[in-house]
Amino acid sequence: MNQLMIFLGPPGAGKGTQAVTLCEERQLTQLSTGDMLRGHVKSGSDLGKQAKILMDKGELVPDDLIVAMVGSELEKYEANSIRILFDGFPRTTAQAEALDQLLAKHEAELETVLLLEVEEEELVQRLLGRAQEQGRSDDNEETIRNRMKVYSSQTQPLIAYYKGTGKLKRVNGLGSMEEVAQRIKITLS
Ligand code: AMP
Repeated sequence: MNQLMIFLGPPGAGKGTQAVTLCEERQLTQLSTGDMLRGHVKSGSDLGKQAKILMDKGELVPDDLIVAMVGSELEKYEANSIRILFDGFPRTTAQAEALDQLLAKHEAELETVLLLEVEEEELVQRLLGRAQEQGRSDDNEETIRNRMKVYSSQTQPLIAYYKGTGKLKRVNGLGSMEEVAQRIKITLS
């Protein structure tokens, strides 16, 4: 059976961490466009070279490249067995519309869009902490502030987009990993 969900929320909200737990619980595959792009950067592919410049500035990678990447991922699934949790995708209205078209093509439907909410100052502090732990090249303060701006201007409109579908569910992302995981579980039950 298909099951498709989206994890929406600002950078540093804990989408990646919570996605791991949720995917285990529901036998979903986590599809993180950020992780896929970092894979391309690491392998030195043309896409990786193009993406790195934008990622290091906290800018978004062009929609057509992202949509092509996700589209080819969806091709790997047999009919009626697509089980995906999208993490960090879609990030723009154009990507959300393209996802609608891809899903229509695969006769699949979104079930839930989970919005993980955390206020900006807390996010910046978390991301600065992560910078020290993981050394991600886009986790410096200037890039972090820009990623927040990009989120507000380009990704936040998706909240209204999905609210309109009746599929949006909000979860407070403040607290320990376990507390947030529990809230998600209750919200989805
Ligand atoms: P993330 O790991 O999701 O925070 O993504 C890290 C960076 O990868 C972002 O700041 C963007 O530069 C790029 N990226 C990831 N996902 C997308 C997407 N869906 N659309 C455009 N750019 C993306």
